[in-house]
Amino acid sequence: MITIEKLKKSFGSQEVLKGINLEFQRPGITAILGPNGSGKTTLIKSILGMVLPDKGRIRVGGEDVKGGWAYRRQIDYLPQIARFPENLTVQELIRMIRDLRGGRPDAEHLIRRFGLGPFLGKRLGNLSGGTRQKANIVLALMYDSPVLILDEPTSGLDPVAMLRLKELLRQEKEKGKHIIVTTHIMGFVEEMADEVVFLLEGHIHFQGGLQELKEKYGANSLELAIARILQQEELGFKANGHGEKAAALVLKAL
Ligand code: ADP
Repeated sequence: MITIEKLKKSFGSQEVLKGINLEFQRPGITAILGPNGSGKTTLIKSILGMVLPDKGRIRVGGEDVKGGWAYRRQIDYLPQIARFPENLTVQELIRMIRDLRGGRPDAEHLIRRFGLGPFLGKRLGNLSGGTRQKANIVLALMYDSPVLILDEPTSGLDPVAMLRLKELLRQEKEKGKHIIVTTHIMGFVEEMADEVVFLLEGHIHFQGGLQELKEKYGANSLELAIARILQQEELGFKANGHGEKAAALVLKAL
């Protein structure tokens, strides 16, 4: 469904993605993990055409992302920070997105699932962070597209909303969708992800199943496996005389 070849992206002199090769062929949930600043959002935005790569090729459903736009109809996207005019009500916002995207979205079942009914007439500026996030989830998922890209979807959600989101994602997965998620909540990944991609210093350090990751690093939890990846990096850096860089890397990941 999605193929990424030799993807490179720099911002000024900072090389963020240094030749990424990735494939999302099987439906299911893939978690993209990595320390802050490792390039997760840059990678996601490259798929969406919101960041223009310097080199490499991305194809979605066979269509080259470069210069293409029709492929975007196949993707629903929940950004990490969604900004909309604060004076719009939730209902107005849903209508606005529907008018912009067209088609026949089904927001009703999502509004019910996340208990958003009482908030439909409230202005975005007056909502709590969690309620805003629920509204963003409704906007992102109401189109039922085959690919879902969710950047930190659990952000601000209370435990009930978190359960509802997990149920929803399981159902979407059952429909055969490709779901790509970034999150810092390791419990969420352990419970939900079929596959993990670990980004570090602009490279893919690991792509595979959770169990495979744990076995590879002799760890009984995802957290420990990640700590071990970072430790190995640290040792590598030390051997190359970059101890300070390694320490900074580990601190960033904590
Ligand atoms: P992550 O999502 O893993 O936290 P990002 O992809 O957001 O990482 O960022 C990776 C690096 O690229 C960071 O150092 C960030 O500051 C830098 N970066 C991201 N977007 C831009 C931009 N538009 N302009 C300049 N630097 C950017």
